[in-house]
Amino acid sequence: MTWTPTNTDRIRLAGRISGLNGEGALDVLARARALEARGRRVAHVEVGEPDFPTPPHIVEAGARALREGDTRYTPAAGLPELRAAIAGSIEARGIPATPEQVIVTPGVKPALFYSALATIEPGDEVLLPDPGFPMYPSFTRFTGATPVPYGLRPDDRRPDVDEIAELITPRTRVLFLNAPHNPTGGSVDAVTVERLAELVERHDLVVITDEVYGRITYDDNHERAPSLAALASVRERVIVVDGFSKAYAMTGWRLGYAFVPLAIAERMAMLAVNGHTCTATVAQRAGIAALTGPQEAVRDMVAEFRRRREVVVSALNRIPGVTCPTPAGAFYAFPDLRKALAPTGTRIEVFADRLLEDHGVAALAGTAFGPRGAGHLRISFAAGREALDHALSGIRSCLEAL
Ligand code: PLP
Repeated sequence: MTWTPTNTDRIRLAGRISGLNGEGALDVLARARALEARGRRVAHVEVGEPDFPTPPHIVEAGARALREGDTRYTPAAGLPELRAAIAGSIEARGIPATPEQVIVTPGVKPALFYSALATIEPGDEVLLPDPGFPMYPSFTRFTGATPVPYGLRPDDRRPDVDEIAELITPRTRVLFLNAPHNPTGGSVDAVTVERLAELVERHDLVVITDEVYGRITYDDNHERAPSLAALASVRERVIVVDGFSKAYAMTGWRLGYAFVPLAIAERMAMLAVNGHTCTATVAQRAGIAALTGPQEAVRDMVAEFRRRREVVVSALNRIPGVTCPTPAGAFYAFPDLRKALAPTGTRIEVFADRLLEDHGVAALAGTAFGPRGAGHLRISFAAGREALDHALSGIRSCLEAL
């Protein structure tokens, strides 16, 4: 899905732009909206966006900033109070952190992009999950490096550490991790994290760990999935990227951050100066309230996602030819439809198209996350119950109609 610049373009675009790809979720959302504009009813299970409102005390903190004229530039790396609150939240997880290590960004994506720009050289090889968040290969190619996809274990969808070990070459420089994982809901356990740390140290790698779903886990014993940043042996090589979009239902506020080793903090702040000057002051004030205020809203939301997870996963597993492992975190079900689709010879992209066009269900083909997503569908249960019911019956009818 790469785009090639042509000589007939009036403006000659730089070659690096051809490496960028878009995001399937946003493309399908646009198509679904077009159908709705023509009067069709569509169940939106394509975008990863909580259907909850931002908790009122967070909204109030943002509104107060607006009312009081707290709307000027902040330091590029973020308001000192917010950087301190973020460092405090990281320390509370047992990871030593100082505010100087925190770079606040307008959402998680810029934090990921800057992390890639800061650490990847042209010609490097970059390990990333397949299926995985489509921005990782996009950013990788943009820097002139080569994406090297690694798989997930089929049963629990944890990163396949054996495969990662086999893929490492002298050119491997960066490892992208994402736990809990989009699109599968897989996570990591302490053993996986330790095995990865050993590889990272032995092969002198940098890790960019995307923990945007860190708070959304269904593990009764741990509030968060373990992080590589917690291990002293590799801490100096790990960049943690996290944000407020998912945990605090703040997707449109645009607030995220990178937590980086002190050695690169200043250069990361320089990327912020060059890229966006500073993150919106209003969003940063709201972020302080999110971290320092009551956390019940997060717990209630995760509890509701857990209930939806049970409903969705058991309904999917009741459909003949469909299997869906139970996600350990995030709010995505990633059912395997291969047995149901194989007799009809239908590819998952075609199935997802028919699901939208004929049954009014906007879901994502697994291939939107890489070739190894073939035969799978991503369903976001951050969508409300009504949309989920509609989506589940639509999937069933669409399979029957094949
Ligand atoms: N990382 C992953 C794995 C995601 O799934 C998403 C959003 O879907 C993001 C990053 C982007 O987060 P934000 O909206 O804060 O930029």
